[in-house]
Amino acid sequence: MAILDKIVALAKRRGFVYPGSELYGGIGGFWDYGPNGVELANNIKRSWWQAMVHDREDVVGLDSAIIMNPKVWEASGHVSSFTDPLTECKVCHQRFRADQPDEIEAHTDKHRHEGQKSVAWTEARQFNLLFRTFVGPVEDNSSLAYLRGETCQGIYVNFLNVLSSMRVRVPFGIAQIGKAFRNEVTPGKYLFRVREFEQMELEFFVHPREATERFTYWKEERLRWHLSLGLQKDHVRFRQHESTERAHYAADSWDIEYDYPEWGWKELEGIANRTDYDLKTHGKWSGKDLSYSDPLTNERYIPFVIEPSVGVSRLFLALLIDAYKEDDKRAFLQLKPSLAPVTAAIFPLVANKPQLVEKARSVYHFLKKHFVVGWDDRGNIGKRYLAQDEIGTPWCVTVDYDTLKDDTVTVRDRDTTKQERVSIDRLKEYIGAKL
Ligand SMILES: [Zn+2]
Repeated sequence: MAILDKIVALAKRRGFVYPGSELYGGIGGFWDYGPNGVELANNIKRSWWQAMVHDREDVVGLDSAIIMNPKVWEASGHVSSFTDPLTECKVCHQRFRADQPDEIEAHTDKHRHEGQKSVAWTEARQFNLLFRTFVGPVEDNSSLAYLRGETCQGIYVNFLNVLSSMRVRVPFGIAQIGKAFRNEVTPGKYLFRVREFEQMELEFFVHPREATERFTYWKEERLRWHLSLGLQKDHVRFRQHESTERAHYAADSWDIEYDYPEWGWKELEGIANRTDYDLKTHGKWSGKDLSYSDPLTNERYIPFVIEPSVGVSRLFLALLIDAYKEDDKRAFLQLKPSLAPVTAAIFPLVANKPQLVEKARSVYHFLKKHFVVGWDDRGNIGKRYLAQDEIGTPWCVTVDYDTLKDDTVTVRDRDTTKQERVSIDRLKEYIGAKL
């Protein structure tokens, strides 16, 4: 079985990722995060927020609404040109992106194998990726609105608000984590090309003459962060966009790519120098002055924007792939302990000895105040280890008969499977130190 198939199966089996609305046959391009998945995703987001906001003096956070005044999307160009070329198979009327030759070829081949002699395709036309909805009780053009196609627009339209309400001075950044939506023609590649996803975006505002230097800084900073989460060095790389593939307003654009099994190098994070395009455009469309006046030099200018932007689910998937390990006895997720859905799992050696269970419950309730802990009293200890290994729990704590005598427990390490006796009063420090 290919590694990716194993991970998809594990993710479902162990409560990380379920197909969206599976009960009703699913819906393409939407996935649900299960109990362990939401913990991992939250840990990823918490780590990003810590690194991008709390650890810094020059970045503040924001949470803007998903539905915005539709003029935002006209100004940003999404209404007119946030499109993919779409072509339709004339045999079965299934639609595909005209700029994905591999998928068109595969589909054409499929029909040929079915005995179809000629497989024709319609002329490509532009298909807008914005999801539409209506605000209020009347459904017409005056109430038309869009689910946001990217989170950064919420940052640009709040630039003046943040400037006037917070004690910030350029250079500074505004960070946001939130949902975005793209009506992809052909969602696919599991969590990679989805229609609803979560972005972690920073818009960093700088003086135009400092833009290049800041761009380089953020590139290095972002790579460092990905490596700090445990991604392997040889699985990530930088790739500079060709001038033809980057947005017309971007002065420079790089991807941090991840080497996904089967698909090869694909974008994990994008870092762009968006120049003064966004603030200038919103200034023009809104009629408001979005320039910045330097309090020290009195110079007035429109700041450039450096944008590092990463999708939670792409990173989530890369981390699962990198963490997945197997040997002849077991499969386990070697996640960085601070990212693991459960930090420690507590087991009574057997479930039918009230004294053991009671003691284990007290350890569980004590640790629960400090860490995310799990409980398992089903089956034998070996099976419980295997289950915890597959969700990446770094430590399993077993309460046994010796515990009742000397107040020590067995702590079993996920990666080495080695066991150690630790006294209960040291347990919190023991786990805290390793975490
Ligand atoms: Zn077809």
